[in-house]
Amino acid sequence: MPVVFRAYQMKHDPSRLRQEILRLEQARAPHVQAILETREPMRRGSFVTLHRKCGKPTCHCTTDQGHPAKYLSLKDGGHTRLVYIGPAQEVGVAETNGRYRRFRDNRAAIARLSKAVLDIINRLEAALVLPESKLATGRRRRGRGGQRVD
Ligand SMILES: [Zn+2]
Repeated sequence: MPVVFRAYQMKHDPSRLRQEILRLEQARAPHVQAILETREPMRRGSFVTLHRKCGKPTCHCTTDQGHPAKYLSLKDGGHTRLVYIGPAQEVGVAETNGRYRRFRDNRAAIARLSKAVLDIINRLEAALVLPESKLATGRRRRGRGGQRVD
């Protein structure tokens, strides 16, 4: 059997495709579980630290990178908005935003793995569906000279 053909057969082997679906489903399960276990509130956005100059001419920030401050970067439509997060809010926002980031990461993994499962289901379908030309119908199509063309 030619190597190329054998590789094609293996790629379209229904039992290998089933194994691949199972593998992907097992990879997806912990992400679904993490979504189900998310019960506390979440805060949208990206938590970022920016360094700013305060503007006082004698401050050390005139010569160094500036004063660090926490912001929540939020996308509203096409715009990005920065919301200052004061020291008192920092721990709480880091926690709720961290939860949001993990939720979104899990969601992205589920989307990617679900698409991969569907792709393989499509390949499994293609591997299992019989060609319609093999259907025994009452009226056989005939080619020139009367040979069957199934
Ligand atoms: Zn300063």
